[in-house]
Amino acid sequence: MISSHTADHLFLKTLKDMLGDSVLLGEEIPTSCFSDWTGHAPCRPLALVRSATTEEVASLLRLCNEHRRPVVPQGGMTGLAGAAVPSTDSIAISLGRLTGVESVDGDAATLTVRAGTTLQTVQDAAEEAGFRYPVDFGARGTCQIGGNIATNAGGHGVIRHGMTRDQVLGLEVVLADGRILDLMNGMIKNNTGYDLKHCFIGAEGTLGIITRAVLRLAPPKGETHTFLCGLPNYPAAVALLHRLRGAGLALEAFEVMWQDFYTMSCGWRDGQPPLHTSHPIYLLCEAEGAASHLEAALESALASGEVEDAVLAGSTTQARELWAIREATGEFPLKLAPINFDISLPVATIGAFVEDASKMLTQRWPDIRIVNFGHIGDCNLHLTVDGQSLAEDTAETRHAIEAEVYRLVGDYSGSISAEHGIGLLKRDFLHHSVHPEALDVMRSLKHTLDPNGILNPGKLFG
Ligand code: ZN
Repeated sequence: MISSHTADHLFLKTLKDMLGDSVLLGEEIPTSCFSDWTGHAPCRPLALVRSATTEEVASLLRLCNEHRRPVVPQGGMTGLAGAAVPSTDSIAISLGRLTGVESVDGDAATLTVRAGTTLQTVQDAAEEAGFRYPVDFGARGTCQIGGNIATNAGGHGVIRHGMTRDQVLGLEVVLADGRILDLMNGMIKNNTGYDLKHCFIGAEGTLGIITRAVLRLAPPKGETHTFLCGLPNYPAAVALLHRLRGAGLALEAFEVMWQDFYTMSCGWRDGQPPLHTSHPIYLLCEAEGAASHLEAALESALASGEVEDAVLAGSTTQARELWAIREATGEFPLKLAPINFDISLPVATIGAFVEDASKMLTQRWPDIRIVNFGHIGDCNLHLTVDGQSLAEDTAETRHAIEAEVYRLVGDYSGSISAEHGIGLLKRDFLHHSVHPEALDVMRSLKHTLDPNGILNPGKLFG
């Protein structure tokens, strides 16, 4: 019998012989590949392969499939669910050398790109050609478009333009057995049976590895306005959402902050908060359209009591200052010991959910500190628990808090993941949001496309 150590050694030799310098072993593997932004326990993979072409990805997968070796696809390692974290026996495959915008088609308003290209590069190329790639979030300079697609990334522009899924027209994917699937469609209308690209978008690298994509581009932004409002309650936020849309404004962001979030964030900043009086709910909104339409809508909202106070940014500097309050989330890892929730709920029920979750958690953990904000136009709530407020911030307590919150999400018919994905972080809770029949179909699909289970094992499913 051959020992697993010897088997590893033989396999790595074959890998080196076949792929040469693109294979890194042992100490050569950079620690940046060991974990992602979730801060999951870092882990060194058996090897890191930096493929520069689709064909190299294909030959690597063919070999790993023959030898039943687990493969973990990696992009910019900015994921928030642990989907790219390797295991000690895995071959990590980095797409970081498969980069570049191949072309921009101005007539079709599309862009063709390789998977390892950063989101920032895609946005810049779109802008240079007189367009806009509207998906945006903080990790833009580091995250890669392949990872964005594999995790169906969201962000605050989703309210107008949809998730990453909605921008993808075509894909090139390498299957577990090394076959290259050419789905590089560039047309908006294409009704030819199963739209296979959707199987790979949001699949977190469990069904195939995305190597190229055709993306839709949006026209550049028109005249936009940024404003902050104080509201009397949550239903007023939903009413205002309807009012602004009804006024013919295109909403680019609709970010609702509960008082707990707003007060904490303003406390972290110098100077007076932009709204001087206290309100139960705050809204940061970015809207495109005529200033007169916005002013009329805000005036009637103030008259009806839906809005108690409002401040409109008069310059980009002022707009940035308003955004800084909402972007306090970027400081959470430094200033709190955050337990982050990224959940979706029917929009009208989010206010009640926040109250129920707070009541339920406070009953069991009396001193617990909770802060809430959400992209509520997308039904997305980010509830955060500060681990520092717990008597004992242990893995067990965190798991218990997660179990309570996700059970409540299930009761509300919500989703345990709005925009971050499942990865390792939420796989134990998937059943709260996905019905058993749907889970069965997901497992059948996995078995059909990856019968040996080599692609990102342990992710998504428990
Ligand atoms: Zn978000």
